[in-house]
Amino acid sequence: MSYASYPPAMRRLVNELTKLPTIGEKSAVRLAYHLLSHDPSQALELSEAIKEARLIVRECERCFGLSEEPLCEICCDQARTRSIVCVVEKPADLIAIERSMGYRGLFHVLHGLWSPLRGVNPEKTRIRELFDRIERTHADSDSSERIEEIVLATGTTVEGDATALYIANSVKHFPVRISRIAQGLPKGGELEYADEMTLSHALEGRRRM
Ligand SMILES: [Zn+2]
Repeated sequence: MSYASYPPAMRRLVNELTKLPTIGEKSAVRLAYHLLSHDPSQALELSEAIKEARLIVRECERCFGLSEEPLCEICCDQARTRSIVCVVEKPADLIAIERSMGYRGLFHVLHGLWSPLRGVNPEKTRIRELFDRIERTHADSDSSERIEEIVLATGTTVEGDATALYIANSVKHFPVRISRIAQGLPKGGELEYADEMTLSHALEGRRRM
């Protein structure tokens, strides 16, 4: 039976669910059926949680990680090393690095990678904001905020490498050290799925670019 035979409201729900990453029609129908056939409070709780998260969670104004405040906890944490910024593709990569416990600097989340084949140019990511951020801390006389090292922690995919190279070339004129994590990460690897030990070693063994 095609899902077109389900009642219209269920079709709408299935249709919305299939827009989510990794959810195909079969999984969407299974999820929709689960939500409609079990405890009604569970489905309402889920819809409330989505609504609340969507309204409250935003991007940190400085690092573009996720936050409920204008500045995230990491950016506000004065105990962290403020001269080093680790650049990642997405919030999940930031969380993976935080879990590895080997890093105590700040972050910059790009929300995408430079990918000419998929029509994503650097301007569609937060790369420009990274350059502005470096520039700002170097124009400022307050040396405690000056960025002195950029750790490029985009994945070891073609796009991850291309983005790292693009950033490294673009910030050459600033007096900042540029390093790239690599050691131990499998080629084509996404940070999000790397284990904590591997990530911790990859950060420690970062290579100067
Ligand atoms: Zn932040």
